[in-house]
Amino acid sequence: MVKNTDICSFCGRSRKEVSLLIAGMDGFICDLCVEQASIIVSEELKKKGEFKLQKSKLMRPTEIKKFLDQYVIGQDEAKKYLSVAVYNHYKRLLQKDMGDDVEIEKSNILLVGETGTGKTLLARTIARMLHVPFTIVDATVLTEAGYVGEDVESILTRLLQVADYNVEAAEKGIVFIDEIDKIARKGDNPSITRDVSGEGVQQALLKLLEGSVVNVPPQGGRKHPEQKMIAVDTKNILFICGGAFEGIEKKIAQRLNTTVVGYGAGKTREVIDKNNLLQYIAPQDLRAYGLIPEIIGRLPVLTFLSPLDKVALRKILTEPKNAIIKQYIKLFEYDGIKLQFEEEVLDYIVNKAVEFKLGARGLRSICEAIMMDAMFDLPTGSEKEITVNLDYAQQKLEKSNLKRLKAA
Ligand code: ADP
Repeated sequence: MVKNTDICSFCGRSRKEVSLLIAGMDGFICDLCVEQASIIVSEELKKKGEFKLQKSKLMRPTEIKKFLDQYVIGQDEAKKYLSVAVYNHYKRLLQKDMGDDVEIEKSNILLVGETGTGKTLLARTIARMLHVPFTIVDATVLTEAGYVGEDVESILTRLLQVADYNVEAAEKGIVFIDEIDKIARKGDNPSITRDVSGEGVQQALLKLLEGSVVNVPPQGGRKHPEQKMIAVDTKNILFICGGAFEGIEKKIAQRLNTTVVGYGAGKTREVIDKNNLLQYIAPQDLRAYGLIPEIIGRLPVLTFLSPLDKVALRKILTEPKNAIIKQYIKLFEYDGIKLQFEEEVLDYIVNKAVEFKLGARGLRSICEAIMMDAMFDLPTGSEKEITVNLDYAQQKLEKSNLKRLKAA
């Protein structure tokens, strides 16, 4: 029989089964358990450190913007607003340490821009450099309590999960709510019969935005009477909302027209850039679109993303840190193949993305269609260098199922 002094007190392995047994006051620990414990300790410490704010380590707004510039092309206005908002969010979290009683209030943000202009990309990029828990949720799944879909509180479930159920960390987090326009009230009539995904959801969301203690189901989904809730205070959670607000240009144009003929009609008209009306967006347009005034009031920072023109699309292909073209070059590098693209090919890809009205999102599908055969054949071939020229690109794209791309 093995004596107690000859086994690891943690895993029970005998001295023979391990390389080393270290003696403690009342027991032993083997080398395997030491290693395991070391991993656990470093992971736990990392988790704790990840969400620890240090004033000295905070990036200033210009630095945050520079960071965003590496991944997101253009959209300077939105980047600037986001950088300031995130920086102020940190300041607010640290304000206790500043020791005076001027309370900095949070400024939730609303980003308005066509789909595929970089709203989610901006949010994801910001998340890379944050020291607080961050999550992206989709407003389309939210419905009023009691209806099919998710309760608004489930937004916070996600945040809790990223924070590893550390409530204190989650309460300082940032939430990006995508497609917020989808919960706008349908139609201008406020007395419209029950609007499951509209005003009711906005009212529920309002509570989160303005700051209150919310009972959150830890596993998400619908509220179960048996499920133990976790109370989360949303006072310090920063909400960034994004939406395409399709058709809002009409409301903006209407407003701009009426202001021109009404007040100030005598003044010279400012030249209005009709191709990018979103830049003139104002809270009253959101109201006309169907957001309730209280929600608008809780999203005091309103900014826009511009539509991407050919120049921007061309840059998106090659310039960001993880630009699509750079990704293909890397993929081929793994097989020891040097991949190059002729300039004309890049213009061709951009032109096709515009022609198919696919925007930035289409760049990747077009590249995939062009590169698919090469990605399939080359790893087993003997070629060590390939240059994609216009002929090749045209031939591959035409051969691929163009209709599918257009419909995507
Ligand atoms: P949105 O959220 O506005 O609908 P996304 O941020 O999801 O759009 O953009 C879709 C994809 O298009 C991104 O993953 C990215 O590859 C590309 N993209 C869009 N806008 C930009 C931009 N301004 N800079 C770089 N890439 C962009």
